[in-house]
Amino acid sequence: MKNQEIAVIGAGIVGATAAFYLSKAGYSVTVYDEGTGQATSAAAGIICPWLSQRRNQEWYRLASNGAAFYPTLMTDLAEDIHHSAIYQQVGALVFKKNPATLLKLEKLALKRRETAPEIGDLQILSAEEITKKIPLLVTKDSALFASGGARIDGQLLTKKLIQEAIALGATVHSTKVSIESTPERNYLIKTDTIEKEVQQVILAVGAWLPNLLVPLGYQVDIRPQKGQLAHVHLSNMKDSENWPVVIPHGEKDIIPFADGHILVGATHENDQGYDLTPSQVQIQAMIQEASDIAPALNTATLVETKVGTRAYTSDFAPFFGEVPNNPGLYAASGLGSSGLTSGPLLGKMLVQLVMGQATDLPVTDYPIEKYIVKKHDN
Ligand SMILES: Cc1cc2nc3c(=O)[nH]c(=O)nc-3n(C[C@H](O)[C@H](O)[C@H](O)COP(=O)(O)OP(=O)(O)OC[C@H]3O[C@@H](n4cnc5c(N)ncnc54)[C@H](O)[C@@H]3O)c2cc1C
Repeated sequence: MKNQEIAVIGAGIVGATAAFYLSKAGYSVTVYDEGTGQATSAAAGIICPWLSQRRNQEWYRLASNGAAFYPTLMTDLAEDIHHSAIYQQVGALVFKKNPATLLKLEKLALKRRETAPEIGDLQILSAEEITKKIPLLVTKDSALFASGGARIDGQLLTKKLIQEAIALGATVHSTKVSIESTPERNYLIKTDTIEKEVQQVILAVGAWLPNLLVPLGYQVDIRPQKGQLAHVHLSNMKDSENWPVVIPHGEKDIIPFADGHILVGATHENDQGYDLTPSQVQIQAMIQEASDIAPALNTATLVETKVGTRAYTSDFAPFFGEVPNNPGLYAASGLGSSGLTSGPLLGKMLVQLVMGQATDLPVTDYPIEKYIVKKHDN
């Protein structure tokens, strides 16, 4: 099967990981990525699935295995796991609305650590201990600290994955494509100027999956969700690259990076379609909310607003697999708010499908046929 040509459409975290591992395995890979609205490059970058109270077991298994996969990915990319600008295990600090809920969360985390040692040390920190760990925070509350929590720069990660794929022989086209199936059961990848026939295709197009599959006669249960994030800067903030990511009670997370650069967000807007217009009102409201716990954010300089489109399904569950009735056509989508966590593992599992190998997690737990249904022959 090797030397076979494979097209990867979409170079967010899923497509870029797939392109890297396919190239590493000796396949001839062509990547097509339009880039507009990409969730990965707009994302906040928190890797901490173990402290989520979502009840969906398959989601948890995917996200926790996804988090556990990161050190392997970094090693495969020859990144120094302790000093990487891409991924750093800085720990995560989670607040809850009252002490009883925090204790409940600690209990859940201790239980989960039995099967997910990556969660690391767990400790409820007092208000004083919190400010000592991260001087930005001024609070009266306690919070749960998990040393295994990590921060990821999605943009840097995909850049590195694609660079490595290119070094291994992959070709990249920064363009939008459409796809047609041929009578020989191959696939035609089409742009205004290129037309290429391949036998196997990975669709890693996030929220844009309907655009590619509806013309092939499918009904696709994927919706776009707009996410906005504020990138702010605070001067005289030393050591910020070592601060943990902060998940306050509510939705506005605080993700510190080096030299006082901090991300605050994000919004989850289900009624904005694929719109990418930043809203100063929303951004100021997010900064205001986060400043309840980090008052210095009120004086921070707004560097940029990041806007991306997440993909989600009607029951918020992700899926991956071979597209029904189209052998050799694979897809993953519906990663929602946790795709930086699960994306690399999903990308790797798509490669395992291409290679005819068993996947790390059962493909039947993330059934693509539930979300992609053939309605008519195109
Ligand atoms: C504001 C925000 C904050 C987030 N924070 C976190 C977080 O803290 N932790 C976490 O785990 N996750 C987070 N996420 C979620 C995560 O970013 C996404 O789930 C994940 O990046 C999705 O990756 P993907 O590869 O499936 O899709 P994307 O990253 O969206 O990539 C899809 C790519 O396909 C391209 N494409 C689409 N159609 C075509 C076409 N026809 N031809 C060519 N190219 C095409 C797009 O332009 C895009 O580049 C956040 C998301 C947002 C928006």
